[in-house]
Amino acid sequence: MVDQVKLKAELETKLAELQTRVSNVDNRLSSPGEADWEENAIAKEDDEVLNQIGNATQEELNEVQLAIHRIESGKYGVCTTCEKQISPERLEALPFATNCIHCAAG
Ligand SMILES: [Zn+2]
Repeated sequence: MVDQVKLKAELETKLAELQTRVSNVDNRLSSPGEADWEENAIAKEDDEVLNQIGNATQEELNEVQLAIHRIESGKYGVCTTCEKQISPERLEALPFATNCIHCAAG
């Protein structure tokens, strides 16, 4: 059985980390029109990389938030498709799984 109290604490720590990361990325995005053309071009490339990091972080953040929400509503570990219990082995490997192995496969 997954220890949900412990898991929730871990998820909340992770959520705070991800939120810090997202705001760091936002801060580092260049403000347009400041540097000359060449510097702007470099800054633009940097922005694209940062945006990708930002998007990936945002997606992870959403998953963590969803998992916390599911713990709070007592639905953590329940398959969203067939509403059966997801096996503990699967949850251990994939803490954010929202489908049981049968529904995920099928
Ligand atoms: Zn299922």
